[in-house]
Amino acid sequence: MKIRAQIGMVLNLDKCIGCHTCSVTCKNVWTNREGVEYAWFNNVETKPGVGYPKEWENQKKWNGGWVRKASGKIEPRMGAKWRILSKIFANPDLPEIDDYYEPFDFDYGHLQTAPELKAFPTARPRSKITGERMEKIERGPNWEEILGGEFSKRSKDYNFEGIEKAMYGEFENTFMMYLPRLCEHCLNPACVAACPSGAIYKREEDGIVLIDQDKCRGWRMCVSACPYKKIYYNWSSGKSEKCTFCFPRIEVGLPTVCSETCVGRIRYLGVLLYDADRIEAAASVPDEDLYQAQLDVFLDPHDPKVIAQARLDGIPEAWLEAARHSPVYKMAMDWKIAFPLHPEYRTLPMVWYVPPLSPIQSAASAGALEMDGEMPDVHSLRIPAKYLANLLTAGVEAPVITGLQRMMTMRCYMRTKTIEGRIDVPLV
Ligand code: SF4
Ligand code: SF4
Repeated sequence: MKIRAQIGMVLNLDKCIGCHTCSVTCKNVWTNREGVEYAWFNNVETKPGVGYPKEWENQKKWNGGWVRKASGKIEPRMGAKWRILSKIFANPDLPEIDDYYEPFDFDYGHLQTAPELKAFPTARPRSKITGERMEKIERGPNWEEILGGEFSKRSKDYNFEGIEKAMYGEFENTFMMYLPRLCEHCLNPACVAACPSGAIYKREEDGIVLIDQDKCRGWRMCVSACPYKKIYYNWSSGKSEKCTFCFPRIEVGLPTVCSETCVGRIRYLGVLLYDADRIEAAASVPDEDLYQAQLDVFLDPHDPKVIAQARLDGIPEAWLEAARHSPVYKMAMDWKIAFPLHPEYRTLPMVWYVPPLSPIQSAASAGALEMDGEMPDVHSLRIPAKYLANLLTAGVEAPVITGLQRMMTMRCYMRTKTIEGRIDVPLV
């Protein structure tokens, strides 16, 4: 056993209001520079939807993540042969600016300088890259909801292909949620495995994944290999860049900028202890076992044997103390209400999500919050459990349903206690 510490994040999706404050504050701190105008280390997308960059979840298109071979071993989806060929013929699997969308500013000066017109002048968009005025904006963040596209329960599968089919469904069955995304600081990062220059590394002390700007040669293999598409090429410097988990702030005990500025207070930071010797095995199990295998990598920070071994492995006391009080451990491992995003990419992502119950009012109206000794019925929730399972547990519904039931049971208990004034309701 080799114990390492990892800083992780839980996002409670029920509380995200899609305000983009996290994205904007992150941008102001990290990517407010020439060359990365289009880059959002943190973005908030509408789900179901094609996301940012467009279709990032389609690994057949981008060749990201790891695949499990018939032998049971895993290898980067892009494969060694492909990596050598792509050095000669250029990397074919890179998103282009249209996949991200061209960044723009509104031309407010036009309001004052426009000549006399029959119609009122408008603040036309101007490209942040070329500076030219744009005739029209093809797409932008959250365009699915802006267009009013109707994702619905028509698709039986709720997987990436199914969502395409579901785009024009019945309005009354429409559902949506917000999904804030950042680099997952994976335990088994595909970006590190893909970099021919050895420029990407995972820090020993806290697991933050960084790109050494002096070593990066701009191959962009990491851009293809990252299944979450969270590495961005800086066209000005010729180097790749990514979320740093605000490591200069973490090092002095401050939260990440996105966590500190989050309006919905949806983000929780915490330390996890894991056994580095279990990673490869956990990433190699069949899809249906991936979620549980990922959980099994982590160690109980209250177990004296774990603490003793962690001290021998050089984990500082302050980190052990943080691990004992970690909300990430509580929600992901103990209560099992927070789940990893797309574990089937086999990178063991370290950003966890509490799935949304919302709109909770529709569940309450359907009687789902009346317990009477039974487990609450999650199937009256508007967002289908199958859809959430495809996002969070490689399609296995049982853990997601249990997590939703736990949260609904707690809601039911608190509602009974606070609204009806009853206190001694037994928890199921
Ligand atoms: Fe690397 Fe981050 Fe992508 Fe994981 S999510 S593969 S750590 S860039
Ligand atoms: Fe959601 Fe918080 Fe970001 Fe607002 S700041 S979009 S509530 S994660």
